[in-house]
Amino acid sequence: MSHDCLFCKIARHDIPAGIVYEDDEFMAFHDINPAAPVHLLLIPKHHIESLADIGAQDLDWLGRMMHLVPNLAYTNGCNPGPEGGFRLVANTGIEGGQEIAHLHFHIIGGARPWDKRAAPAA
Ligand code: AMP
Ligand code: ZN
Repeated sequence: MSHDCLFCKIARHDIPAGIVYEDDEFMAFHDINPAAPVHLLLIPKHHIESLADIGAQDLDWLGRMMHLVPNLAYTNGCNPGPEGGFRLVANTGIEGGQEIAHLHFHIIGGARPWDKRAAPAA
């Protein structure tokens, strides 16, 4: 683990977070500055900077991480069925908008009353 990495510190419980899920390999917590009604961050507990650093040796745990995503989304407020769903984002690198250099998935969802496409027909 990287000792000065914010998400490593959260993974070690050195600083608090709104944790919604944790196992030996992964942790999910509420984004401190949510962009939607549901905005979780899912991280591997071990330090890896981004998807740009993934290699063939990472496919097993990455598959387990992906497998967690829909379960976390739907148990934390994302709506099921074709009217619901969620967005999965992994900002990667400076031009990808990544601010924290520890791989994380944004899981974003919930009702979008401001979104005209989601509004009921008048
Ligand atoms: P990114 O731009 O993809 O690196 O996203 C970093 C995300 O981490 C942003 O959405 C921040 O709001 C979020 N964030 C920063 N610090 C914390 C924290 N202490 N706890 C939870 N989320 C955080
Ligand atoms: Zn880290």
